[in-house]
Amino acid sequence: MPGLDEKLQDIYSEVLQRNPGESEFHQAVREVLDSLGPVVAKHPEYADAAVIRRLCEPERQIIFRVPWVDDTGTVQINRGFRVEFNSALGPYKGGLRFHPSVYLGIVKFLGFEQIFKNSLTGLPIGGGKGGSDFDPKGRSNAEVMRFCQSFMTELYRHIGEYTDVPAGDIGVGGREIGYLFGQYKRITNRYESGVLTGKGLSWGGSQVRTEATGYGAVFFAKEILQERGDSFEGKRVVVSGSGNVAIYAVEKVHQLGGIAVACSDSSGYVVDESGIDLELLKEVKQDDRGRIGDYAEKRGQSAHFVENGSIWDVPCDIALPCATQNELNGTDAKNLISNGCTIVAEGANMPCTPGATKRLTEAGVTFAPGKAVNAGGVATSALEMQQNASRDSWSFEHTEARLATIMSGIHDRCLETAEAYGTPGDYQSGANIAGFIQVADAMLALGVI
Ligand code: GLU
Repeated sequence: MPGLDEKLQDIYSEVLQRNPGESEFHQAVREVLDSLGPVVAKHPEYADAAVIRRLCEPERQIIFRVPWVDDTGTVQINRGFRVEFNSALGPYKGGLRFHPSVYLGIVKFLGFEQIFKNSLTGLPIGGGKGGSDFDPKGRSNAEVMRFCQSFMTELYRHIGEYTDVPAGDIGVGGREIGYLFGQYKRITNRYESGVLTGKGLSWGGSQVRTEATGYGAVFFAKEILQERGDSFEGKRVVVSGSGNVAIYAVEKVHQLGGIAVACSDSSGYVVDESGIDLELLKEVKQDDRGRIGDYAEKRGQSAHFVENGSIWDVPCDIALPCATQNELNGTDAKNLISNGCTIVAEGANMPCTPGATKRLTEAGVTFAPGKAVNAGGVATSALEMQQNASRDSWSFEHTEARLATIMSGIHDRCLETAEAYGTPGDYQSGANIAGFIQVADAMLALGVI
């Protein structure tokens, strides 16, 4: 990693000192600052108005108690978060994550990333993120409902169509958004569709929102391939994870003629040489909320399950990390490189460690960062907001075409910006710089607020 210039180093030191113990947040900030050297050199006005320093400090951070009663009658206490990071471009927008690993540092890393991602979409949305250390795994529907109701009983006062619009992330899907929306509507006595995205299709949701992050990631990878005069046809693809992002990435890979041969969850991974059977994967992971090992058991001969191993040992042409942060490290990168992988496109948020990214780029592997690759999810959330605002609903085909156009726009913007700032072909610096400039210009225009 290149050394930071003096001004950026001072900003980074201040971030470390003001946010102790938040390693994921530090990592996300560092990753952006590493790209901004050429920008501060060309535009001293950003430093003069302390734009980067202001960007690193959330506009508002909310932490609250979430008490609820489980099925045995025991009172449970979780911690809820909403970090409203930056609203220069529009209302705060970003998902809620329910996972036992959630703490302020995770929410801040995600919220920080979200600012640049949302900016890259070109749509009028600011950046925010939230969640809880609640673990939905093994909880009954009734428990999840009571938790969501308690969570919203505090959150409702902070959100709104023009203020802050949460959605899903890990552990928060259609079921949770339903319970959250129900409680918001009950407390406020308002059917305010635009307050949450990822809603069900019969009550204000958008076509393609469920598929959007996975589809968008594959559209982005398709653009990378097109730059080389190539396509997905016959490509071997490894997709980590088996949640919403991974499932629809696999679906789109297959639709484009590639073959997704492996996917995973926290218990291990499956390799299926005849291509992941999507219907079976959906049945195991979505309908039954089961483990990935069940897939191999039900699939029979063509598939095998590897407990606790690294999915990145599986040879592939294209790797799509779609599970979680820091799931692909330097050793994994080395294995991917020696097995001939030429593209790593991040479907998840920050799945590659800095060491992995360094190795990949040094070896000439095309690395495309999550804030560009997975922006299709939040972009389609913004399309859901548009439909809600006009009380309209669009067809699947129209919405998917909009998504494809947005993804190719992001792809091109990354490349053009990388070129303009002296790092041709570097998607990471292109994404960081393009995302930054749009927010920074809005912040300059809005004054010191
Ligand atoms: N959680 C998703 C992300 O990481 C989607 C956020 C949204 O739709 O607001 O971008």
